[in-house]
Amino acid sequence: MNPGRGKSVARELVREEILSLTAYEVHDAKGLTKLDAMENPYPLPPAAVAKISSAASTIALNRYPDSAAVELKQALRKTTGVPAHAEILIGNGSDELIQIVALALARPNAVLMGVEPSFVMYQRVAVYAGMRYVGVPLREDFSLDPESVLAAIEQNRPAVLFLAYPNNPTGNLFARSAMLGVVKQNAGLTVVDEAYYPFARETFMDDLEAHPNLLVMRTLSKLGLAGLRLGFMAGAREWLMQFEKIRLPYNVSTFTQAAAPAVLLEPEILESQAKTIREERDSMSRKLRARGVEVFDSKANFLLLKVRRADEVFSSLKARGVLIKNLNRSHPMLRDCLRVTIGTADENRKFLAALDESLA
Ligand SMILES: *Cc1c(COP(=O)(O)O)cnc(C)c1O
Repeated sequence: MNPGRGKSVARELVREEILSLTAYEVHDAKGLTKLDAMENPYPLPPAAVAKISSAASTIALNRYPDSAAVELKQALRKTTGVPAHAEILIGNGSDELIQIVALALARPNAVLMGVEPSFVMYQRVAVYAGMRYVGVPLREDFSLDPESVLAAIEQNRPAVLFLAYPNNPTGNLFARSAMLGVVKQNAGLTVVDEAYYPFARETFMDDLEAHPNLLVMRTLSKLGLAGLRLGFMAGAREWLMQFEKIRLPYNVSTFTQAAAPAVLLEPEILESQAKTIREERDSMSRKLRARGVEVFDSKANFLLLKVRRADEVFSSLKARGVLIKNLNRSHPMLRDCLRVTIGTADENRKFLAALDESLA
């Protein structure tokens, strides 16, 4: 065996665009206050843990999961405002749903469109699936410019347009009227990604019926169940029945199918945590502004800040035991920007104290 050979064959066979990708970076947060990934900082309340344990004690792990996920879908219908006429597609996190959509639409030269800056996974998945990615810049204040999106739609005829609502990493909600204008004019599919719904409580679920080429995507991750890996998409059967063919039959585990309804059917369990996070977000935003830090308005569970010399501030925070996300160099419009996830009151105090020292 020649150990050098494997490498060169890989370089020969793996697609060009994959060779030039760098792996999605997940920072090691060991020993650090983790405010980098929009997780809910609170552990599940004991009542929820008890419900999950009890649900888990009766599942048959020797069997494959229910591919149709009947009970899970019923629970989602009861608790998430999916309209009666809409279908549901489940994913191993909403990341997987983005991938399913792209795989289904990846005809040669098909375009996946997003706005910029936004969730990086749209562009990455476009590359994975072999689609052409087109990113339309937001306005300087990160609002949606319907005219430039419509011009880009006209020019590129996207198969799908992804709009995160609220947007990540900017935290703002785009104007509803601008969104609807774009949905109406886009002849392709528009996916509204409502990952941060628990913190914004604004939705396009009720617009699904009037707009057959609109789908709404949600996830339980930001609500407090990031480890469970469950996302879902709601909308017209015409779309979802095609995507359903690509969904791997057992993508959502038996454990997830048992645990999610246990928590969903008592929404107040996680809603009270979401409420605390919303209050902490607004309070932290006020405190940062009082310090003269530039903070963008956020309806999500994180804040986007602009500082001088973001790299230095990021490193200094990390040296003081606080891990946030450095967005400097991730996009030209995010120069010197940092994103901090809202933590517990205690973690937020720690962040503010570390930031004070880092900015001093
Ligand atoms: C975090 C995030 C997701 C991914 O959620 P998972 O369900 O954990 O895969 C999707 N969209 C946006 C905008 C996000 O910020």
